[in-house]
Amino acid sequence: MPVPLPPALSLFLDVLRCPACRPTRRLHPGPGVLRCPAGHTFDLARHGYVNLLTGARATSGDDADMVRARSRFLATGAYAPLREATVRLAADAVPGAAHAAPGRPPTVLDAGCGTGYYLAGVLDRLPGARGVGLDSSARALRAAARAHDRAAALAGDVFRPLPLDDGVADVVLDVFAPRNAAEYHRVLHPAGRLIVVRPTGRHLAELRDRWPSMVAVDPAKEERLRRALGPRFEAAATERVEYRAALTGPAVQDLVAMTPSARHAWRTPDDRDPATRVTVSVLATTYRPR
Ligand SMILES: [Zn+2]
Repeated sequence: MPVPLPPALSLFLDVLRCPACRPTRRLHPGPGVLRCPAGHTFDLARHGYVNLLTGARATSGDDADMVRARSRFLATGAYAPLREATVRLAADAVPGAAHAAPGRPPTVLDAGCGTGYYLAGVLDRLPGARGVGLDSSARALRAAARAHDRAAALAGDVFRPLPLDDGVADVVLDVFAPRNAAEYHRVLHPAGRLIVVRPTGRHLAELRDRWPSMVAVDPAKEERLRRALGPRFEAAATERVEYRAALTGPAVQDLVAMTPSARHAWRTPDDRDPATRVTVSVLATTYRPR
C-alpha cells in the first residue's frame, strides 16, 4: 500500500519544487511519492514527511537518542519563554506580509525545525497560516510531522537549494539552526521577515562549567552572523531573552544529550546529575530582506 499524501503536505503543493532540477519544476503527488515532470521521485515516509534529500538518506542530523532527549527536555517547559518570544516575533511579522500576498495563506518556513516545537507554537498563534519544517534528521521529522495539523515536514539540507518557489514564505524561522542566507532570501516574500534565534555567551553557562566539552559560544559568532546575513538582510530589531530555568536531574541529562557536543560528553547511565538552575540566554533578531 503506497503511503498516502499527508494532509499538511497537500497544503504546499502550490509551492513545492523539485530539488534535483535546474531550472526547477513543480512536484506533483503520485502513489507514495512526489514526482516532477522530469521523472525525479521523492518518497513519502510512513511517518508523515517527504524525503527531498538528494543523494543522501535522511539520517545525517540528530540521531534517535538525541531526538528523544530533545522531546523530553522541551516537554519540561524550560524553553517555553524562549518559544513564546519566538512566536510573538513571528506573529508580529506576518500581518504586513500577508497583506502583500493576497490569495496565499500566510506561510512559515522553519529551517532546521527539529521536532517542530517552535513551528507548532507559531501555527497555534496564527490560525490561518500554514507551516513547513525542514530538517535533515529523519528521527526529528517523525516528531515534526506530528507537531501540528498545518505543519508539513520535509527532509532536506539547509545548505542545499530549498525545495520551495521564490518569494513564498512570509516568515523564515531559524532557531539554533545553521543558516543559508542566499536561499532564505530567495524563498522569502519581499515583505516577509527572517527571524534568527541564537545563543549568547551566557546560554547554559552553568552546564559548560560542569561539562567543559559542551561547545562554547564563539565570541566572534555575532560578527560572523552579521557578515553572513548583511549583504541580503537588514536587522530591524533585536531582543535578548534571558531567564533562569530550574531543571531536574533528568532534564539536565537530556539537555546535555540534545546538544551536538553530547557526542563528546557522553557518559555512563550511572552518572547522576543533580537538579540545578541554568541561564537561558538568546538573541532574537527580525530581519528585512534587502
Ligand atoms: Zn526534477
